[in-house]
Amino acid sequence: MKSDCLFCKILAGEIPANRVYEDELSIAFPDINPQAPTHLLIIPKEHIASQAKALVEHKALLGHLMATAAELARIQKLDKGYRVVVNTGDDGGQTVHHLHLHLLGGRPMGWPPG
Ligand code: 5GP
Ligand code: ZN
Repeated sequence: MKSDCLFCKILAGEIPANRVYEDELSIAFPDINPQAPTHLLIIPKEHIASQAKALVEHKALLGHLMATAAELARIQKLDKGYRVVVNTGDDGGQTVHHLHLHLLGGRPMGWPPG
């Protein structure tokens, strides 16, 4: 827990979020500013500041987050496809510095991303 981290505060229950999913390693909740009909954030319970800070010791956790995204996409019935995004650093557009996966679906996605 990092005391000045927004997502750590959500994990601690200090900021409310609708936990649509939770397991021993992660939670998922809707993005407050959704960019698609389905827009969930999947975050590890461990504070990792970004993908750029991920270490080999986090391998299993990172795989767990990806598998969780796949499971949530099935639950959300995103049968036509979806996108998993990990914004990283300033050029990547990261605004919350606690690693998170965006699960976006329910509409066609453009490419290249903005
Ligand atoms: P990033 O820009 O770092 O990739 O993604 C951070 C995301 O967190 C943004 O899409 C933003 O809308 C979302 N967000 C910021 N504050 C809150 C909040 O208090 N609650 C929820 N549910 N989402 C938030
Ligand atoms: Zn955090």
